[in-house]
Amino acid sequence: MTRKIVSVNGVRIGEGFVFIAGPCAVEDEALTLEIAREVRAAGARILRGGAFKPRTSPYSFQGLAEEGLRILQMAGRAAGLPVVTEVMDTRHAALVHEYADMLQLGSRNMHNTPLLRELGRMRKPVLLKRGMSASLEEWLEAAEIVRAGGNEAIVLCERGVRTFETHTKNTLDLGGAVLARERVPYPVIVDPSHATGRSELVGPMSLAAAAAGVDGLMIEVHHRPDRALSDKEQQITPRMFARISAGVRELLGGMAADPALARP
Ligand code: PEP
Ligand code: MN
Repeated sequence: MTRKIVSVNGVRIGEGFVFIAGPCAVEDEALTLEIAREVRAAGARILRGGAFKPRTSPYSFQGLAEEGLRILQMAGRAAGLPVVTEVMDTRHAALVHEYADMLQLGSRNMHNTPLLRELGRMRKPVLLKRGMSASLEEWLEAAEIVRAGGNEAIVLCERGVRTFETHTKNTLDLGGAVLARERVPYPVIVDPSHATGRSELVGPMSLAAAAAGVDGLMIEVHHRPDRALSDKEQQITPRMFARISAGVRELLGGMAADPALARP
């Protein structure tokens, strides 16, 4: 099987190891710009940030919608990073397509066939998150719906699944991520932020995912996680992100130098 490389405005996912980083949600212009510059300096290649937020409660911050898309695009351009953001609804797909370089399909929408089909018709790469209750099979079928629509620029993202365990927000299925990568030619990345819901676990799970051989990581970064409007408990500071990025690079460098440990 020839592995696919997915180009996001020139950033090639599936070749080397790629970091996607940024806030959970775009909150304001100055903060987004500052985070963009700092994560870029720390090795991120793509900026993330939600403008349409799928929140569990209707009373939580729902995102800045088009204003958020505008800010994200501006911050990405200023920092020299392509941007990825979530499309929550087929009715927003064309709008998000105007601003984003990569379209994220969130965990809660992985079974939304009309939305999968819509992204399949589009000509921008898709970041397909695993449904929190989706089997590996169902996740890969969702990717197939996008591909059948004519869009093969797909990156899969493992973000944890629901189990009986409640100490972490979700349970990171690292084995599932590795198996997905064996089953389909698309790059597979891991989101340790949503997978654990705990900032102190983001570093260790990032190293574990890198050692397991996935193609990259998507990490939530915020200057003041305690003041974030969403996902406070799991966001890490730019400083912490820089340390994790350096640690992952060191690990991958060491593995590459040892034939017994080299990634498949
Ligand atoms: C996100 O990445 O912004 C997000 C909401 O993640 P998930 O869909 O995995 O919950
Ligand atoms: Mn989040």
